Amino acid sequence: MKKKVGIVGYGGMGQWHATHIRGGKYLNTLEFRESDVAEMAGVYDIDPEKRKKAEADGFKAYDSLEALLAVPDIDIIVVATPNDFHEPIAIAALNAGKNVISEKPVTISCESLERMIDAANRNGKIFSVHQNRRFDNYFVGMKKVCDEGAIGDIISLESRVHGDHGIPGDWRKTVEHGGGMVYDWGVHMLDQQLWMLGYDVDRVYAHLDYLIGHPVDDGCFIDIFLKSGKFLHVEICTYNFIPMPLMYMRGRTGTAIINGWGQDIKVTRCLEWDDQDDILPVKVAAGLSKTMAPRAGRTMEQLTIPLPKTDEHDYYRNFCDAIDGKATQLVTHDQMRVVMKVIMAAFESARTNTVVQF
Ligand code: NAD
Repeated sequence: MKKKVGIVGYGGMGQWHATHIRGGKYLNTLEFRESDVAEMAGVYDIDPEKRKKAEADGFKAYDSLEALLAVPDIDIIVVATPNDFHEPIAIAALNAGKNVISEKPVTISCESLERMIDAANRNGKIFSVHQNRRFDNYFVGMKKVCDEGAIGDIISLESRVHGDHGIPGDWRKTVEHGGGMVYDWGVHMLDQQLWMLGYDVDRVYAHLDYLIGHPVDDGCFIDIFLKSGKFLHVEICTYNFIPMPLMYMRGRTGTAIINGWGQDIKVTRCLEWDDQDDILPVKVAAGLSKTMAPRAGRTMEQLTIPLPKTDEHDYYRNFCDAIDGKATQLVTHDQMRVVMKVIMAAFESARTNTVVQF
């Protein structure tokens, strides 16, 4: 039987969840198939206009959070409000005996996350965060390159998203609602990178941009050094007019790159390290260089790897299986803890201009 879902917050992302579950068109761009594991039971939004919209879209809208939480057959509450409301709503839902999917970032401090986890444990309910970007096809493709050892042991991974029209919306520009780009995009990219390469964080260094004049960061540069020796870099700009590649990964036997949204993965593999006899110096600016000359062709292999097909419904499938005790939840409490701690370390590093030891 499908699990019944109640959504709190019927803005952009609440509507995404509702459409994703029922199937249909979202914002006239995305077309969703109906979920095979979940069905919509109702919506609550603090704004009466949003409740009217939910009704117009064919969903039952409740007048209060309490009324939604009192519906006995609702299995899952999705929290899709501004970030500072995730904690009180999630805890109320867990205490009402519901399983909870919080939108990302799960909340805005480590202490707040502990209170949420505690409520989940006390009530014996499944509680996780919607890290849907684990299903981004470009990320899944890059993770496959890593997991299959196509470029050997990974040395470093850099992820970048670059926009050129600032922070969208209203609450995302405010401190009190947990706005800014670290919480907005940073949490996705940190979750992806740590899930792919390990949670053994040693230290964090970060710089935040405040270029547009909001009290929250409109961009960030976060460096993470893992105990394994791997180096991770997350970069977000909303004030940059030429984007850089989405992902760039160096391994012991090759390099992989994705140059932009929707583009295939380019892999260059080094088949034989020693090619010194074949190297001719190249003219570089005003001088010659052997160091920067291209490698001999016989030592290289170039591959184009198409992006894999992914299915975003897998997130809900896993969550429902976790409720039924058939799977471990995809995004675990410990994983959420490390990501939240890295975010806090990044804020501290940027504020104090120091490297923060984990
Ligand atoms: P939004 O402003 O479009 O919608 C938020 C909605 O919450 C509004 O309709 C507002 O009236 C309602 N709301 C505010 N306070 C409330 C309260 N106390 N109780 C009930 N409803 C309340 O914002 P959004 O873009 O939909 O973002 C919502 C959440 O989803 C954020 O946490 C955001 O980070 C997350 N999000 C996730 C993704 C993703 O890809 N996973 C994408 C976008 C947004």
